[in-house]
Amino acid sequence: MKVVFGGTFNPVHFGHIKPLLGLCEEFGFPQIGMMPNFVSPFKQDKEMISNTHRINMLEQVVTEFPRLYLIRDEIERECISYTADTVQSWLEKTPSEHIVFVMGSDSYQHLHLWHKAQLLLKQTTIIVLPRNKPVQKNINLAHNLNTVKSDSILKKGQIYLAQTALYPISSTQIRHAIQNNQDCAKYLPQGVLNYIQQHHLYQHHN
Ligand code: ATP
Repeated sequence: MKVVFGGTFNPVHFGHIKPLLGLCEEFGFPQIGMMPNFVSPFKQDKEMISNTHRINMLEQVVTEFPRLYLIRDEIERECISYTADTVQSWLEKTPSEHIVFVMGSDSYQHLHLWHKAQLLLKQTTIIVLPRNKPVQKNINLAHNLNTVKSDSILKKGQIYLAQTALYPISSTQIRHAIQNNQDCAKYLPQGVLNYIQQHHLYQHHN
């Protein structure tokens, strides 16, 4: 089973990390892969930093939290990749792989707009992490994750709502807090914060 959490991670924060650790604890996932997406260098500015910086911050996280690991497939492809195509490439290599794709409820609300969304839904199991607002659409609440304890019960083609705690944090808030010299220590691991400070990321004078 390959459990994957995709994102921009600009920067990675506890709202990403803590729900994933919660999922590992509750459902016995040995590890979850964090997969940063590739962002074109032409789109990078003060707010959108380089792919290398985002990877380096994730490296800090996976060193501190061994249950998390880094999946470099999309970022190293050096072009924008759709999740459905990434999943397809894994399944071509390992057709029997059970892929579980984890996403926040805000991403889930837009899932129907994703490239080849139906294929992605058919080929994976989706776990939705509750974020700020109540999650409503199409979620198979009958299979509440609280009761799911084994690989065999998580079914391909199904969407499950996790019962993880809410962490009302976003990368946007953190970027703005840094620009305004506000303290962010409680929102992200110290190693990530040190990295941001060392490289003067997200500051107006970049
Ligand atoms: P930004 O503020 O720049 O839009 P973000 O904080 O939403 O960033 P992303 O890297 O875009 O972070 O998100 C990656 C994934 O993590 C998405 O599926 C998103 O829904 C989820 N996510 C982000 N923050 C949280 C949070 N606080 N709680 C649960 N899920 C989250």
